[in-house]
Amino acid sequence: MKLIKNAEVFSPEAIGRKDILLCAGKIIAIEDDISIDLPKIIEVVDATGKIVTPGFVDSLVHITGGGGEGGYATRTPEMNVGDAFEGGVTTVIGVLGTDAETRSLENLLAKSYGLEEQGLSVYCYTGSYHYPMVTVTGSIKRDIMLIEKFIGVGEVAIADHRSSQMTPTEMARVASEARVAGMLSGKSGIVSIHVGDEPAKLSKLQRVVEQSDIPITQFYPTHINRHTELLEAGFAFAKQGGFIDFTTSTTEQIIEQGETPAAQALAQALEKGVDIKHITMSSDGNASLPTFDDKGKLIDLQVGQVKSLHQSMVDAVLQYKVPLNLALSSITQSPANILSLGQKGQLATGKDADLNILNKNSLQIEVVIAKGYIVVNNT
Ligand code: ZN
Repeated sequence: MKLIKNAEVFSPEAIGRKDILLCAGKIIAIEDDISIDLPKIIEVVDATGKIVTPGFVDSLVHITGGGGEGGYATRTPEMNVGDAFEGGVTTVIGVLGTDAETRSLENLLAKSYGLEEQGLSVYCYTGSYHYPMVTVTGSIKRDIMLIEKFIGVGEVAIADHRSSQMTPTEMARVASEARVAGMLSGKSGIVSIHVGDEPAKLSKLQRVVEQSDIPITQFYPTHINRHTELLEAGFAFAKQGGFIDFTTSTTEQIIEQGETPAAQALAQALEKGVDIKHITMSSDGNASLPTFDDKGKLIDLQVGQVKSLHQSMVDAVLQYKVPLNLALSSITQSPANILSLGQKGQLATGKDADLNILNKNSLQIEVVIAKGYIVVNNT
């Protein structure tokens, strides 16, 4: 049991100064003053002058590594549990990516079980960039319905030279399979979409929505901040009721080539009147971040960092003047809602005891608690 005293709580809404009581991995009370006659088994954490937030939900991480667009020597490494915790991330969604030949869903599941044993909350998507989809059981539907960790499918690539050039009909079929499986299993059944550089942008998803009864909310496109035209298309997509995700891992070269930093994209989206419930940020951690020259030759390759999620939240608040509750929502409540993770992304009685204690001015991470355990202590 733990009692966090005198915290300024952002649930992510600002709810004022509270005490938070944690027991058996859950939040069991949030009150103005909890001062029961404390038995010695309760550890008291003094958070006076600190901000307490939900643990961050990172909706896209290549936990088994990704990419390798520069040949085998450029395959990126697996994520370590510390990479998540040190960035305040207590829930990740693990995905494959470009390479579903030498990296498998079985490996993804095994990695997720390992991280879970180390205290992180982990969910996964079946499938990868490519169509037909790789699965464990033979179908997307069976994977989502029978394997607890699978909550959706993706990241399916569109508008990218590395995609399978799916037709809208093929995309619709994938989406309805995931949707039905989600309905039958009480999961989101979301279709995570990797959007590449091509001018087609989100048009394939638009066509599926126009030509079928699949709701726009079945899709969760990411990398929307990768160029200005895509960002504009993303704002329109979100205003139509869709969800959009900004990628926080980046490099100087990628920004020079036209990417908008996620924090700035978040500020712009809010200025344009996009509802925060439809906007998220994710790290794309452990992805390869290739830069190609104008002839398509690889000129640089870096590795995505999970900790960029926290940094982008900080930049959004301190540099781009996004209100703290909204910046926090984009990495807590919004992704948890989109992914139907009812126990995550919010500080409220009955939710999982995942929370971060931050410095009030710098918003730097001081303490991270995952499922009731202190996993980072920088004080
Ligand atoms: Zn991607």
